[in-house]
Amino acid sequence: MLPVIYSDEFLDHKTGTMHPERPERLSAITAALREGKNASQIEWLLPTPANQAVLMPLLEQAHDSRYIQKVKEIASTGGGYLDNETTVSPRSYDVALLAVSAWLDGVDIVLERENPAFVLARPPGHHAEHYTGMGFCIFSNAAIASLYALQKPGINRVAILDWDVHHGNGTQAIVETNPQIAYCSLHQYPCYPGTGKHTERGLHNNVLNLPLPPGSDISIYQPVFEKKVVPFLKAFQPDLLIISAGYDANADDPLANINLNPHDYATFTDYCLEITPKILFGLEGGYDLSALAESVVATIESCVIRE
Ligand SMILES: [Zn+2]
Repeated sequence: MLPVIYSDEFLDHKTGTMHPERPERLSAITAALREGKNASQIEWLLPTPANQAVLMPLLEQAHDSRYIQKVKEIASTGGGYLDNETTVSPRSYDVALLAVSAWLDGVDIVLERENPAFVLARPPGHHAEHYTGMGFCIFSNAAIASLYALQKPGINRVAILDWDVHHGNGTQAIVETNPQIAYCSLHQYPCYPGTGKHTERGLHNNVLNLPLPPGSDISIYQPVFEKKVVPFLKAFQPDLLIISAGYDANADDPLANINLNPHDYATFTDYCLEITPKILFGLEGGYDLSALAESVVATIESCVIRE
């Protein structure tokens, strides 16, 4: 069984009409998983309700406490914006905390079962920095999950692989000073947010950025996985692998210009399973509803087949 952590509450983070990061993204994915041929292999789990006492110390490792308060205030006063495109609706603060809680549940389940799990939550997180949210992201879910995992006995190294088409500037900024965390990103370059040059290596050579030109397809990605991603992650010997699983590198995606197909994510997942079965997938971007849903199905199928 493949645990999928999901709550309908994640639909309550409202971004407004015409916004690409919309609740329908999750509805498309859950419908595809429920109708898919591996539906009986999925174990649907609700996230643990957000517990401030557990979450706040972790959140404050990743974000400035004034920023966390600011999100709370914007939400409690009817909503607003963190930047031109990052919306805070009345329930967004609570939902963003529940999303962090879901990612932490994912860490617990993966480490307990030594098998993959998938967190289907929003808002996404990899652009959220120490002092601010940006790029549809409020709290840095993957970075916070990695910090949480390192508090657990026997967990000394956590790797994050970010295959969202955009560079995870926020995740990188939060973890690059920590020698116990490795961060590897494949992303279109140039593209939003403009960071992720290959010369950005982290303070401990613990960052590997793999910028790829617009128009790249699987024939470009596959050798990069084989020659760069897998060797880098294997050498780090992670006790847990977290995937910032964005699906906006699909050819049909409206926000970027990479030409992957949904089944390519099964190939990526197979590479990751060669490194470790202890993989937490967490949703980041992906804005074409069909391609997004098919890609998550492909990712999960790879995990289920491997079991
Ligand atoms: Zn993205």
